[in-house]
Amino acid sequence: MPVKSLELKSKLKKFYNAVEQTTDGVFITDINGKIQYINPAFKKITGFTKKEALGKTPRIIKSGLHPLKYYKKLWSTILSGKNFRSTVINKKKNGQLFYADHTVTPVKNERGKITNFLGIWKDTTKQMLIEKRKDEFISIAGHELKNPVAGIKLYTQILEKHFKNKKDKKAIYFLSNLNFQIDKLTSLINGLLDLDKIKEGKLVLNKEIFDFDELVRKIIIDSQYASDKHQIIKKGEVKQKIFGDKYRIGQVLINIISNAIKYSPDKDKIIVTIENKKSNIQVGVKDFGIGIPQKEQKKIFDPYYRTKAVKESRYKGLGIGLHVASMIVKHHGGDIWVKSKPQKGSIFYFTLPLKENASTV
Ligand code: ADP
Repeated sequence: MPVKSLELKSKLKKFYNAVEQTTDGVFITDINGKIQYINPAFKKITGFTKKEALGKTPRIIKSGLHPLKYYKKLWSTILSGKNFRSTVINKKKNGQLFYADHTVTPVKNERGKITNFLGIWKDTTKQMLIEKRKDEFISIAGHELKNPVAGIKLYTQILEKHFKNKKDKKAIYFLSNLNFQIDKLTSLINGLLDLDKIKEGKLVLNKEIFDFDELVRKIIIDSQYASDKHQIIKKGEVKQKIFGDKYRIGQVLINIISNAIKYSPDKDKIIVTIENKKSNIQVGVKDFGIGIPQKEQKKIFDPYYRTKAVKESRYKGLGIGLHVASMIVKHHGGDIWVKSKPQKGSIFYFTLPLKENASTV
């Protein structure tokens, strides 16, 4: 046998062994989608043997859980010569479902003509189940914590009243702080439950007409309890009443202000600016704290995302507040973003459209 052909044979053997031994499921089809090759991992994941799979199309593992348009997209992508990537739910031979990160690649010959399709799956069922369990745990824990915390809040309010009657200033001060901490805990629990609602697409807004300026003033007074060090300054004024979910919009502002306090521990000022723009109300919360690197500024609105610097330091948190805030703002038709420089500080902005505004105060 000529040397070149021997070299080729040994190369082919190497590739073949690699594909046979990988733990990812691999299959190759002809141009019509008929399976010509499956590796052992394909059999392990799906339960279909070579004999059962060869000559069939990947339809044998179709779960029926993806709409027709998913498959249309898959075919139009690969027939145009591009890779198709997605998370797919498939069905094993025994009927069990499995999740996979799925890539289909059109294989071209030397003239650029598609001759085959190569499918690779990474079985992600375990990770998906862990994610699901985590979500379920968060949901149950959130619901279980809600009632006792509401009970503590009620008794704190009763005590506050009691000491107000007795004019005990010290006790009133401590209880106001306690009240604030309970509110923080409640909003943390609500955040977890909100995340759950957002995932299920069940975030409901209870819209009403309300005085935005008054809400901002009240939140600034309440937030002041979170820090003796920071002075929270209000700038600007909004004269228009707006139509929205007062509680949810308040939640957005509280979250951003408490972040501004938390992430600027050595500074003493936070500026909340509200302005009437042409078609919306714009809120800006400025701090002079640790800031956020440019490349992480979009990611902080993703669920559970915390910046690298924050994760590696003493700041505590779950990374859900901004995600919930962004969903609330978006549900109102507004926008949320940040301008920031590491070690200089951040300004968080959000807008609320005025097209649904009610009247002038
Ligand atoms: P948490 O504060 O609980 O981690 P958030 O969703 O409120 O979660 O914020 C997500 C991340 O965005 C934070 O972990 C932090 O890295 C970053 N971040 C938010 N606000 C600020 C801020 N004012 N200054 C610097 N980083 C911030």
